[in-house]
Formats: sequence, C-alpha cells, structure tokens
Amino acid sequence: MNGQRDRTGTATAEGIGMTSERARLRMVERLRQQGIRHEAVLAAIGRVPRHRFVDPALASRAYDDTALPIGFGQTISQPWVVARSIELALGNRSALDVGLEIGTGCGYQAAVLAQLCREVYSIERIFALAARARQTLSACGIGNVKVRVADGREAGSSVLRFDAVVVAAAAVDMPPNLPPLLADHGRLVIPLGPAGEQRLVCVERTGEQFVHSDHEPVLFVPLRSGQE
Ligand code: SAH
Repeated sequence: MNGQRDRTGTATAEGIGMTSERARLRMVERLRQQGIRHEAVLAAIGRVPRHRFVDPALASRAYDDTALPIGFGQTISQPWVVARSIELALGNRSALDVGLEIGTGCGYQAAVLAQLCREVYSIERIFALAARARQTLSACGIGNVKVRVADGREAGSSVLRFDAVVVAAAAVDMPPNLPPLLADHGRLVIPLGPAGEQRLVCVERTGEQFVHSDHEPVLFVPLRSGQE
C-alpha cells in the first residue's frame, strides 16, 4: 500500500484513495440509479465524508451500498436507506428549520440532515455511541447537531416542533409520542412492522390531520426501550 500515513504511521484509507471525493460521487451516482431523485439530498450526501463515521478498519468499504457494524450490536445504515428516509422526510422541500433524528448511531445520518436543516437534534439511547458521534461530528466541522442520550420513543417537548423527524430503528407500531412532535407540514419517516416485514412509513401533518403513506420494504435494528 502506498497511501498516506497518519500520525501513528498507519496507511490511511484516505491516502489510498478509497475514501476520496470520487468514491463519494460514485456513491451519489449509484443512489441516483437506485431511484433517489431529490437533488438536495444527493448534494448533501455528496458533501458528508461517510468514511469518517466508520471504524478505520472498515473505511475502505464506507462507500459500498451496505450497512456496516459500528459496535454495540448496531450498524451504520446503508446509504440508500439514509437517502430514501431523508428524501421522504423532505417531501418537496429542500431546506428545513429544525430536524429530529431518533437513533444517532455513528452520527452519519445526522450529518446528512445537518446539511439540510438549520438545526438538528439527534437522540441515541446508548451513551457510548452518542459520545463518539458527537466527537465525529465535531471533527468533521458539523456544528448544528445536538446529540442527546435518551429513549427516543419517549421524546416529547412542550416547545419544539420539528419540520422533519427521521427514525433510524424499527418499531412494530407507531410510537404515539412521535407524530405530535411534527410542526405543521412536517413529515415523519419511520420503519414500521414486525421483523422481516418492515416498511418505511411516512406521516405528514397538516394542521391536526396526520396522513400516513407506506413505502419500500426495509431492514432496521429494533427501537429499544431505556438507556445503556
Ligand atoms: N442513524 C444511524 C443508524 C443508527 S442504527 C446512521 O447514521 O447510520 C440505530 C440506532 O438507534 C442505534 O444506535 C440504536 O442504539 C439506536 N436506538 C434504538 N432504540 C432507540 C431508542 N428508543 N431511542 C434512541 N435511540 C435508539
């Protein structure tokens, strides 16, 4: 390997070109072929260095269309799933005020949302993942994401309403606290259904009306209760 070396002398994936902007742009082209149409989402994905959100040993696979382990039995979502969830959450809007993510994991999806929202709140139930995500986001210069440790199903706020809510872990039924968190014309995207039969579901709020639509089949880790 003839790549750059980091300060410890290890060849970095960055140096061997596996994580270059070119790899990222190839991923964006693939997402386009897979049916992602929202240009603002594709541009946001093109700006976020996905390789920095995975373990350095896996960085060369960061731009493959696959989920990868991030520790604690959790995964970074497949790029198509991130793109499609955010595309559904935007609808025909391309910039939002406040977004909420439930299930920060490594922080990648929050980083993509941060390109499209003035401010993003992201909730993670595993303390160590939240701490690492904060570090990665800050190392990438992303300053508009606030990571909180909590059980996102219990999320409720007397003040904040969100223009988009994106849930990155699956529930069997809709957690009742979540749709009321939407601002008027806000959209919530969540994988719902029993194991093996999950689908992305989108809820759009108009006044006090909540309209549900069903989308593609997906495979997510489960939304769990409590904190670790
Ligand atoms: N958003 C990530 C994917 C994370 S995987 C990405 O960018 O790739 C799903 C995450 O949801 C895991 O880290 C898991 O710990 C977290 N999670 C599961 N149940 C949760 C809950 N009730 N509240 C908050 N986070 C939860």
